Amino acid sequence: MVIRKSKKLDNVCYDIRGPVLKEAMRLEEEGYRILKLNTGNPGVFGFDAPDEIRHDIILNLLDAQGYSDSKGVFSARKAVMHECQRLGIQGVDTDDIYLGNGVSELISIAMQGLLNNGDEILIPMPDYPLWTASSVLAGGKAVHYFCDEESDWYPDLDDIKSKINENTKGIVVINPNNPTGSVYPKEILESIIELAREHNLIIFSDEIYDKILYDDAIHIPMGSLADDVLIVTFNGLSKSYRAAGFRAGWMILSGNKKMASDYIEGLDILSNMRLCSNVPAQLGIQTALGGYQSIKDLVAPGGRLRSQRDFFYEKLVSIPGISCVKPKGALYMFPKVDVKKFNISNDQKLIYDILTETRTLLVQGTGFNWKEPDHFRMVFLPELEALSLVATRLESFFETYVQR
Ligand code: PLP
Repeated sequence: MVIRKSKKLDNVCYDIRGPVLKEAMRLEEEGYRILKLNTGNPGVFGFDAPDEIRHDIILNLLDAQGYSDSKGVFSARKAVMHECQRLGIQGVDTDDIYLGNGVSELISIAMQGLLNNGDEILIPMPDYPLWTASSVLAGGKAVHYFCDEESDWYPDLDDIKSKINENTKGIVVINPNNPTGSVYPKEILESIIELAREHNLIIFSDEIYDKILYDDAIHIPMGSLADDVLIVTFNGLSKSYRAAGFRAGWMILSGNKKMASDYIEGLDILSNMRLCSNVPAQLGIQTALGGYQSIKDLVAPGGRLRSQRDFFYEKLVSIPGISCVKPKGALYMFPKVDVKKFNISNDQKLIYDILTETRTLLVQGTGFNWKEPDHFRMVFLPELEALSLVATRLESFFETYVQR
């Protein structure tokens, strides 16, 4: 008898760890050294979590053996509440804060708690694909709105407007954006809020890269812009605090919570059902939010992340047939490839070919729900020496590549 996966998974896709990764692992088993640039995992590239956080988790370990309150330990939620006050997100109480095993778990809870079969949720295109996967798994329909490469990858407001209908329940905003690195100006955020206000929609604002900003980029928390719309903000320790493996994230409800009491009851049920998130990691949150955590040094001129971004960007755009909007935030580049020049009709095949020839693992643009086979995503987390090697290999790959 064949044991089959649930039909619920038929349209669920998460290609960042998809079939090409399997091939990369197979090559590794054969003894090849593969440079994996497919996930935003700072720790494995030598970006250590701040000492203070690690020490506090170790020191508190003995007090972290039991379950915590479902929403999380009070001290951590209080620290998130204070962070809201600093950021101008008003009216947030510790009760409005849920801790999770990373933002990932909270995205899933937020979608499971909201969507009935056929309900629609507006998600950027390209997106961080967990948003699409989670809403589809919850029975909803992911409707993608266009982000425009020609306008620094900003969301196309007319496209959002045209896709709102009576089934639409919410709008997802990822800012700073993964995969594009775009950081949105206030006017765009305010216009999205205005649409939510007009149509009674919830805003889901994924701000996990809020502190990873380059040049003159300024991050504006959505929750600071309105108190009459329900805004659900997501953040955590994985990126700004380089502690992805600890699995610590938080979700904040702000704005018009009154209209959402039934939805909030749903969130509470789901939060209770998973008992609680990883308690030792919760005990790093207060320290993370309270102290000096060095991320500013990494993104300031001369800082490691900033230097790597600048270095690789120049290399990348000097390759004939490749162009890229320079990222203003986050850890990724989302370059465009000239499909005519390279005869590309299948971007997964392109990523396979790059893997086989250069021993570098990237992710195809369609893995981010981008419809054309003309982009790929890579992290610029490795040290300059490794990035230089990747650049040289990609350059020679694209010198001769024609897809067959
Ligand atoms: N949201 C975005 C935009 C991400 O890029 C990621 C991870 O790459 C996540 C959420 C998930 O983060 P976490 O490690 O907190 O689950």
